[in-house]
Amino acid sequence: MKRHRPATDLWHDDAVEVRPVQPFQALKRYTCPGCHTDIAPGAGHLVAVPRDAPDLRRHWHRPCWSMRARRR
Ligand SMILES: [Zn+2]
Repeated sequence: MKRHRPATDLWHDDAVEVRPVQPFQALKRYTCPGCHTDIAPGAGHLVAVPRDAPDLRRHWHRPCWSMRARRR
């Protein structure tokens, strides 16, 4: 299985598992790679986990992830 470099532009839907993060699960502050602003603790959002590189998971605002998908 080929490995993707850690660039979000290379992520395709079949290589990334997207999981919802509920507000009660969001205990830390994350930076959204879509808009480069913070995701506040307690805010529901999404986490995108590359299937072959789970350590490279990134947290996204829901609308930012949707816009990324439309850009393809
Ligand atoms: Zn965002």
